Amino acid sequence: MSSIVTRDGSGSLAEIDALHARYPELPVEALVKEDLLRQGVWFSAEALAVHREYAEKSYFIFSFDHRPLAEMEGAERDAAPEEISLTGGTWGFRRVIVSVRLNPSSSWKVDAVDGRAVLRCDGGEPIADVGFAPKPPYYGQLTNDGTPVIEVAPTIEWGYLLYLTVFRLCQYFGRDEECRFCDINENFRQQKASGRPYFPVKPVERVLDALRRVVASGAQARAYTLTGGSITSELDGLDEASFYVRYAEAIEAEFPGRWIGKMVVQALPLESVRRIHASGIRIYHPNYEIWDAEKFKLICPGKERYVGRDTWIRRILDSVDVFGRGKVIPNFVGGVEMSKPFGFSRIEDALKSTGEGLDYMMSRGVIPRFTTWCPEPLSELGATNPPAPLAYHAGLLDLYKAALERHGLAAPPGYGDPGIGNAVFSVSAFMDVLDAKRGSVPL
Ligand code: SF4
Repeated sequence: MSSIVTRDGSGSLAEIDALHARYPELPVEALVKEDLLRQGVWFSAEALAVHREYAEKSYFIFSFDHRPLAEMEGAERDAAPEEISLTGGTWGFRRVIVSVRLNPSSSWKVDAVDGRAVLRCDGGEPIADVGFAPKPPYYGQLTNDGTPVIEVAPTIEWGYLLYLTVFRLCQYFGRDEECRFCDINENFRQQKASGRPYFPVKPVERVLDALRRVVASGAQARAYTLTGGSITSELDGLDEASFYVRYAEAIEAEFPGRWIGKMVVQALPLESVRRIHASGIRIYHPNYEIWDAEKFKLICPGKERYVGRDTWIRRILDSVDVFGRGKVIPNFVGGVEMSKPFGFSRIEDALKSTGEGLDYMMSRGVIPRFTTWCPEPLSELGATNPPAPLAYHAGLLDLYKAALERHGLAAPPGYGDPGIGNAVFSVSAFMDVLDAKRGSVPL
């Protein structure tokens, strides 16, 4: 294997090799995936011509890019796939699926060789073959009101998940409220400016129309996520629970139990959580983003202002009584706890804090999950920070795997099968590193 040092001395094949030796239980594919997620990837025009048909990047909620759209030009920006798979190559990769986060200056590039798409690091020898996300059979269709179905109900996770961002803005507004790593409001503005059909609120009937087309197309999605920004007052005359529940009720009335229903909203009072569950939603995601109490207040000022950290945590625990053990799955943003000026400066301190959070939650029937932080330049922290070190991400995968095993838990449900070669969750490698034999919490 070659050892190629990148510009900042991190994320290189040499570093991946060293981390693989340090954490032999982590598949090397997962380490490459984390580096692709934290650094981003770029495509040559030739690579984009290799696969005739694939799902293009839909910008399903945030930008998840390392550059604003306006600073990236041409087909390399507009024709990038939603996800890529890595197989074969130097290390004999078992299939691993990676969400595409564009970065023209990443060490990682997808190139074309002899009619195949391949992955290179810093222009070196190809290390894996690259597949592009399969195009769902309903892509290209329009709803009855003329909206592209891909805008209403894109599919991610290699066909597994319908991602229904029904409110594309967040009412946490401005510097004193928006989570400092989040670009949802700025991404909305840049997508509109680029001419993409992108609407603040999706009418319920448009969502149902799109889902009818999904079903008629034979698409094999297994789950849907209802999500969007927080609602601090009202939207369409409804509070947050009422706004999101009306979509779940409409979907479950027309397609009862067809998909696993998941919902991402704030940590809400128990009465609202009961209504969410009664609407047919089976997995609840009250995302806490960062465990450390002081950093939560600094990095998530809107969550602190409207709910407060202690109440947020208490509501997460209370909701286990409604949804059941293992079915409350709050997200945290893996890596943002190392961002300046509020984050930890030492990897071991960040992992210690996050590990305490995992033990606290897992010992109480909650299974957190994480997404790998992408420093989006239109967010406050993304504008001034590099990604977290790869060594942090390797340590986090090891920590998560050990915590799940220590607490005797199966993988969180609603993410497909765990294990390298099986996993489809694309914005973190946590499902890739779990033992396939652990299975998932039954629903
Ligand atoms: S709650 Fe925070 S992370 Fe979620 S959309 Fe609003 S600002 Fe972004």
